[in-house]
Amino acid sequence: MSLGTNESKYELVSGLEIHVQLNTNSKIFSADSASFGGLPNQNISTVSLALPGALPKLNKEVIAKAIRIGLALNCSINQINHFDRKNYFYADLPKGYQITQDNQPICINGFVEVELADGSTKKIGINRIHLEEDAGKSIHDQNVNYSLVDLNRAGVPLIEIVTEPDIRSAEEASALLSEIRKLVRHLNVSDGNMEEGSLRCDANISIREFGSEAYGTRCEVKNLNSMRNVRTAMNFEFTRQVEVISNGGKIIQSTLNFDAEHGTTSPMRTKEEANDYRYFADPDLPPVQISDEWLAKIKSEMPILPSEISKQLISEFSISKADAALFAEDIDLLNYFNLALPNVNNKKSLTNWLIGPIRALLNEREIAIVDYKIKPSQMADAINLVDDKKITQQIAIQQLLPAVEESQIADVADLAKTLNLLITENVDELDSFIDEVLNNYPQQVMAYKKGKKGVLGLFVGDVMKLAKGKADAKKLNELIIEKLK
Ligand code: ADP
Ligand code: MG
Repeated sequence: MSLGTNESKYELVSGLEIHVQLNTNSKIFSADSASFGGLPNQNISTVSLALPGALPKLNKEVIAKAIRIGLALNCSINQINHFDRKNYFYADLPKGYQITQDNQPICINGFVEVELADGSTKKIGINRIHLEEDAGKSIHDQNVNYSLVDLNRAGVPLIEIVTEPDIRSAEEASALLSEIRKLVRHLNVSDGNMEEGSLRCDANISIREFGSEAYGTRCEVKNLNSMRNVRTAMNFEFTRQVEVISNGGKIIQSTLNFDAEHGTTSPMRTKEEANDYRYFADPDLPPVQISDEWLAKIKSEMPILPSEISKQLISEFSISKADAALFAEDIDLLNYFNLALPNVNNKKSLTNWLIGPIRALLNEREIAIVDYKIKPSQMADAINLVDDKKITQQIAIQQLLPAVEESQIADVADLAKTLNLLITENVDELDSFIDEVLNNYPQQVMAYKKGKKGVLGLFVGDVMKLAKGKADAKKLNELIIEKLK
């Protein structure tokens, strides 16, 4: 992209407020189901309806999930938590307030490192993560005379991850979002599904001249629900703000809507019109104390994070970053790998097989590794047979593994033997094959003896055919060279 002279003078500055819907079974303050996609108002009770006298009761799982993501984002965990009421009036908020955490969020001061397309990494500060409940949904387009309200979503647990204004481009914003999505899935905190709204964000955007320390006035674009919308909104706002400032105008701090169809933003309200939420501590909910023991237990149960897994795989098996990412980002593949690992003699072979031929095979059949009938231990056995030169890799993959799938016989080595797939150890037999082939090519044998070593491949290929592929190519080479001396 070539920037106009004005655009090249400015840099984009952005911080995101990322809402993540937690994948708990029940809502944050009631036993109502938190699942997506039910019939309207199917998952509600007195609490979701805010009937007088209905009292909230905290779902402990919500705290545990928030801590997990907080730890993954290198945050400090606040062990004393309060809930606050954020007061506003709207039809899909029957209580007249949303329960949230105002100035004592559960996680603070973290950071996340994201990878950019050019291979560099960027560190983005996490200001805080707080807990809150979602509101219901107003539906305005189903009836001309009425608006409808669906309260299934009311009370579904959310965390809001607030970053520092460290983002400098749309690319960094999408890299951050995909990293967060990857982490919440890896930690089983959320399904991270942007289409269904489980992951959505508000983007705060300002500009400043390159070299300037001070931040410019920001605008906040609300409710961006796809990676693409985030990028489009950011680029649009950047260009718009540069234009305003270049023309001598001023940016007014405001909240903006995003129009996905046109890729544009439009004003919703300015700071002067902003709601006064009159936050105060919710008297219905006691402070939540996270004990040292509980925190320690959650810490001890944290899985290794994808970035850590990548680093370990790269250093231990010297595989490429891209290959390491395949394992780090695919829990099922990683599980398979870990289950096979103890049984495999050469660990590097296991990574090679899974990245190479097995991945190709699964792709071709369009199946996931969890649906692959070869057990990890059977895979390890097959790999060991190849590494021990008992069977060729080609026969193992093309004949042995399919036979294992079909026969349901657990012992891979036994099956290979029964099916006569093992490399022939019968040197006499090989010897006779070699004689036969060399007899077929008297001219080529002469040529070889005169120094035309290239014909060796022809001999090896033909002997291999006679041996039905069941020969170790290297050994065969040696035997033939010996014979030709
Ligand atoms: P508030 O309390 O008014 O919501 P915060 O300080 O919590 O403001 O910031 C909200 C979000 O706005 C954060 O993600 C932060 O990184 C971002 N932000 C703050 N200042 C700027 C700025 N000048 N330009 C872009 N983003 C900003
Ligand atoms: Mg804010």
